[in-house]
Amino acid sequence: MIKRSLEERFWEKVDVRGPDECWIWQACTNEWGAGLIKIGNRKIRCAYRISWELHFGPIPKGKQVLHNCGNTSCVNPSHLYLGKDLEERFWEKVKITGPDDCWEWQAGLFDVGYGVFHADKETRRAHCVSWEFAYGPIPSDKWVLHRCDNRKCVNPHHLFLGTALDNAQDRKSKGRNGIQYGEYANNARLTNAQVLEIREQYTTQDITQCELAMRWGVSQAEISKIVMGKSWKHLEQKQAKYGNNARRGKRGDRNNQAKLTSSQVLEIRKRYAQGKITQTKLAQQYNVSRSAISAIITRATWSHI
Ligand SMILES: [Zn+2]
Ligand SMILES: [Zn+2]
Repeated sequence: MIKRSLEERFWEKVDVRGPDECWIWQACTNEWGAGLIKIGNRKIRCAYRISWELHFGPIPKGKQVLHNCGNTSCVNPSHLYLGKDLEERFWEKVKITGPDDCWEWQAGLFDVGYGVFHADKETRRAHCVSWEFAYGPIPSDKWVLHRCDNRKCVNPHHLFLGTALDNAQDRKSKGRNGIQYGEYANNARLTNAQVLEIREQYTTQDITQCELAMRWGVSQAEISKIVMGKSWKHLEQKQAKYGNNARRGKRGDRNNQAKLTSSQVLEIRKRYAQGKITQTKLAQQYNVSRSAISAIITRATWSHI
């Protein structure tokens, strides 16, 4: 028997239609509807990625192939595009002017005025990310400071590393001592008093971890560790009276893990039910994991609405 080429085997499983229509994979798919094809003896690959490669050549390392039609079972190469990498995504949010000017962040800001950048699973301060792109990882005992005193600025030439002492002096000289919390810090950016206040606010106010993260200019993961007592453990004892009891049993958008509001959840279910969008796409658009979307749709979570 003559071995057929991959290309031949591939296209016989596709319902090829007009150039602008979705070309739906007719053979087996994974749980998100993406077509699967067997390569050689063992390897199983996503059909849309193969479609990309058959048309445009090898996918650059680490790049994702995405659908602009939102239909994961589609393999029409004109509906496929390469996902942007982190640096690309970062710089498209920055207004870059002259080399000595402030390059201001054009997207969301923390309440304290720094840019917010969602990198993979973390929420980061934009100027710290910029420093890392330019100079490498930030040492854990150092803070990224602005020479230009413009918090929106991410021009790496306006940023420098300082110690806790530099930070304190800088803050004092700029007359903001003690007012803007953790403003120059990168890692150990909160004080004991602030950590206690965060725990207090979380226990006594109707506020989510995300909202606290925005209020204090740190990541949601960091807030989570603080309120769950996983970090700043030395402060735990005093706070024992608060515990998590006050929060227990809360559901939906006041749940301590919630990243979405009730109306967003309803919107997600509605859009998915209309069949025009995949779970993956929804996950990207609402900035949550695909498993979170799946749980919402199957009502494993948010079952009360
Ligand atoms: Zn399509
Ligand atoms: Zn600047």
